[in-house]
Parts: sequence; structure tokens; C-alpha cells
Amino acid sequence: MNALGWAGTQWEVTADLVVVGSGVAGLTAAIEARELGLRVVVVTKDAADAGSTRWAQGGVAVVLADGHEPGDTVERHVADTMAAAGGLADAAAVAAILTDGPSAVARLRELGARFDRVADPHDARRGVLALAREGGHCAFRVVHAGGDATGAEVERALLAAVAVPRVPLLTEHVAVQVLRAGGDRGPVGGLLVLDGTGRAGVLRAPSVLLATGGYGQLFASTTNPDTATGDGVALALRAGALAADLEFVQFHPTVLYTGPGARGRRPLVTEAVRGHGAVLVDGAGQRVMAGQHPLADLAPRDVVSAAIARRLAGTGAPCVYLDATALDGFPERFPTVYAACTAIGVDPRREPIPVSPAAHYSCGGVLADVDGRTGVPGLYAVGEVARTGLHGANRLASNSLLEGLVVGRRAARAVAAELSGPRRSFPVEVPDLVRWPVAGRDPLQRAMTRGASIGRDGAGLAAASDAVEAATAPARVHHRAGVEDAALTLLAQAVLAAAGTRTESRGCHVRTDFPHTDDVYQRASLLVGLRDGVLTVQGADEARVGAA
Ligand SMILES: Cc1cc2nc3c(=O)[nH]c(=O)nc-3n(C[C@H](O)[C@H](O)[C@H](O)COP(=O)(O)OP(=O)(O)OC[C@H]3O[C@@H](n4cnc5c(N)ncnc54)[C@H](O)[C@@H]3O)c2cc1C
Repeated sequence: MNALGWAGTQWEVTADLVVVGSGVAGLTAAIEARELGLRVVVVTKDAADAGSTRWAQGGVAVVLADGHEPGDTVERHVADTMAAAGGLADAAAVAAILTDGPSAVARLRELGARFDRVADPHDARRGVLALAREGGHCAFRVVHAGGDATGAEVERALLAAVAVPRVPLLTEHVAVQVLRAGGDRGPVGGLLVLDGTGRAGVLRAPSVLLATGGYGQLFASTTNPDTATGDGVALALRAGALAADLEFVQFHPTVLYTGPGARGRRPLVTEAVRGHGAVLVDGAGQRVMAGQHPLADLAPRDVVSAAIARRLAGTGAPCVYLDATALDGFPERFPTVYAACTAIGVDPRREPIPVSPAAHYSCGGVLADVDGRTGVPGLYAVGEVARTGLHGANRLASNSLLEGLVVGRRAARAVAAELSGPRRSFPVEVPDLVRWPVAGRDPLQRAMTRGASIGRDGAGLAAASDAVEAATAPARVHHRAGVEDAALTLLAQAVLAAAGTRTESRGCHVRTDFPHTDDVYQRASLLVGLRDGVLTVQGADEARVGAA
């Protein structure tokens, strides 16, 4: 029995492409790659629809030929994305991804996804796509499904589509380690996984695409499901790839406040509720966003979350309130939010909804280009796990489903082009893995919540690092929880290191000891790497896909 706790690998599969994750990014890539003739296998650590995708509410931001506000253009969408991103978005990546948006959404509709249409018989636009407006957008350009159940429809349509050409989808299989040929210096040759019973297997393939989602579970309170433990970033760092912008964790301003000590996934109150006219007030009925930003309640998320955090610190209250009592048709327009509110005894038609910010989206991730390529030959990263440069220091609402749809397709094409010559396979050795550092999840989440939420400072970040270190010990990793805890431990260290290095406030990284943005010395991404088990953080004048 080796150090991982199994007696060698017990099964093997060969493919051209292994996709890790079955959310919008992974499934889109798998469908496209299969259509291009590649042998694809998808592995996913839980049920197929357990990632963040199915929880997405607001929708997909896109300027469609058959459904956009008059005068709206892709260029205006690009401008809004750049404005929200705090100076760190990559203009070329933003333009490339958003320009491909309309065709990627058209493809999703061909695959069967149905978006809401204007239903009001008195509305002259009856029958055309219904559009919502969200924070930071200058136009109504967010298409949605089932009112506020967009992600469920996207996931449903993609899972149905992936079943048609019978792409093998291995549920309850957790990716443990990317395998590289040539003593970990060569190209990717496969992936080590554990099935639900702890049996180890190897998927031999010249391409591995990480689509594992974000790392909201670093914090005690988040909108993210249990799967969001940062596994993909950890897999990539251990394989020699770089990560960037990890300190930019977006806290959603309006997450349902379910009572003191609420832990784990909390229901989101979509931004579209504010897009339809709801306003934030404190316990005394005072508007929270008055005088804070020209867009007031529709300011970008980082601005609204920081304003709420300041108000909570000032009043000592645990939550503020979203007053949607003036909105018509709340239960029909926002059925998911309505159900979550009534479950805690709040009727949003009659009383304000208690809300507070919670960890929501990982703007940074594995450094990848707009085709998903990382610096490791054969390793790709797509969706929330990746840092393409689309989001910079703060993601614009509803741009992430779009990123998964666009870059998923582009990455599949990049893999197909790479493999268009004679089929190659790279022999890899399955390592006798060392024990990895693992912190207990509770102390880790407590430390991150206390020291690395909105309004960080140097002392708090240092205390969080100390607490994580104190809770960390080497451990054998031989099941899913171990893989996840090892990933969270590495991610906590990496986020704290990057957040400590960035001595300024920018986007969703708000430091109370450095409240200003420093565009002279700090307008660059921080690159995080792992060398011989030691994390490195370095600035880059221009973040590029780094050579491994
Ligand atoms: C409540 C909520 C509302 C949102 N609303 C919107 C919205 O309106 N519009 C928008 O654009 N975005 C929204 N987002 C963000 C968006 O949903 C996500 O960014 C997006 O769905 C991520 O897709 P993904 O494919 O990258 O990852 P996910 O959908 O999270 O999928 C990750 C997959 O990887 C698997 N996985 C993880 N680790 C491993 C491993 N080690 N081995 C095997 N499998 C693994 C998971 O099980 C899962 O299948 C929302 C997010 C949340 C949580």
C-alpha cells in the first residue's frame, strides 16, 4: 500500500481529453470536443449537477441579435466589464470573450436551453427575449430562464446534450493529481482519480481540462455549494502551473441572512431584484447606497458589499434589508428567492428581506489564456477555476456563465487542434504520493472569515495565516474530503499570501489599512506558484501564461 492509502491503481481509462467538472464550463467543453471527434471522459466528484452552475440565478449577460436593448452593443458590454474590473482586466481577453458571447449563447439555445420571453400581453415586445439589468451594467442585457433559475436550465440543457453522443460521465470521482510525463517536467499524460469507494484509477490522456469551479468554501458563509473547494487551483499549482488574482474574492452584497451563526451555503437574493427597483436600507430605514456611487443600488458588487460592510460595522447590526415591497409580481419573477424567503418566514411582498454579504465568486484562478491554455503543455483551465483576465479585480454580474460557455468551446477547439497530428500519449508514472498539509475545515473557515473577508488588514491577515498554520498537519489523502481539505489549505495559504502582498484596496480586495488604490506600483496581477512545496508570490507588469 502506498502513502495515499491504496495498493496501486486499480483501474485505467484512455482518452484524448479528460474534463474535470460537470458545470457549464466542463460540459460545454466536453460537448464541443466530442463533436470535433475527440474521445472525451468527464469526471466529477459529486452528482453531475452539484456545482455552482445550477444555483446561478440572475442569468447570462450577452448582447444577442434577437434580443437586446436598442443601442446596446458588445462594445458597451466590454466597457462595463472593464469599468467594474478595477483596472486589472485584460482588455484583449475581455474583447475576445465577449465578442464570442452571442454565438456561444446561440449554440446553447441550439442545444436546447430555453430563456424567458416577455409574457405581458400589454407589452409591445411580447414574445421577444426578456432582459434584466444587473449591477454595473448600463443596459438591460441579461437573459434568464425560469425567472431566477437560469443556472438550473443551463445545467439541464447541457446534461441532456452531453448524454446524446454518450460522453462518459463518471460521477462521484474526485481528481487527485495531474500526471506529467518526464519526471513532472514534461507534458500532461493523465489524471489520478479516486472513485466513490476510494479505489484509485488513472485516466491516461494527453490533455486534461480543469473546470472545477471556485473556492467559496474557504469562508464559513458563502453562496457556493459544497463542491467549491478550490480543487482545480490546487491541482494546477501542484502540476507546476501558475495562478493569479487569487486575492480577489467577490462577496455578493445580498445573501439571505438566515440568523446568527449561519454556516455553509446560504441562499442568494439575485441582483436582478435591485435591477427591478428594490433598494437597500438599514434597520432604521436609511438608504445604504445613497451618496455612495452614481449607480446607487445598482453599483458594482464590490462597491455595494463594501458599503454594507461599513454600515454593519457602524451600526453593529448583523444585516441590512432589501426593500422589494414596491415590486409587482415578486413570486412569479423571482420564484427561487421567494421560496428561500418564505422558508425563513419572510414575505418579500410585505416586508424587507434581511441580507448580508457572503463569499460568492473567485475572480482569480489558474492563469490561462482565452483558449484555456495554462503554462503546462496539455493542461487547460476553463470557467470559474480559471483566470483569463475577463474579471480583473471584480467580476461584472452574469459574466461567468458566459465565460464558461465561450472559453469551454474555445478550449475544446484548442485541444482538437493540438491533437490534430498523429495521436500521442505520454507515459506517466503514478506517484507514490507524499502526505499533503491539511488543516481542519472549521478552524480554516473561521480564520479566513475573521481575517480575509471584506475589510482586511495586515494584522488580521497575519493572524489568519497563523491560525491556518496552527491547524495544519501532514495527512494521508485517500478520499474526497481529504482532497478537498488539502486544496482548501493550499488555497487559504495562497489567498492570504496574495492579500498580504497587495497593500492597497482594489476591486473586491478591500484593505482597511490601505484604503486607496495604488495605480502607480500595484496595477498588475500577482502570480502565485508552488515550487518544492513552497508558495511563491510575485508581481507581473503584465500577467501572461507562465512557462512551467
Ligand atoms: C448562488 C449563485 C448564483 C450565481 N448566479 C450567477 C448568474 O446569475 N450569472 C452568472 O453568470 N454566474 C452566476 N454565478 C456564478 C456561476 O454560477 C459560476 O461561476 C459558474 O456556474 C461556474 O461554472 P463552472 O463550470 O466553472 O463550475 P461549477 O458549475 O462550480 O462546476 C464545477 C464542477 O467541478 C466538479 N469538481 C470540483 N472539484 C473536483 C475534483 N477534484 N474532481 C472532480 N470534480 C470536481 C464539481 O463537482 C462540479 O461538477 C452564481 C453562482 C452562485 C453560487
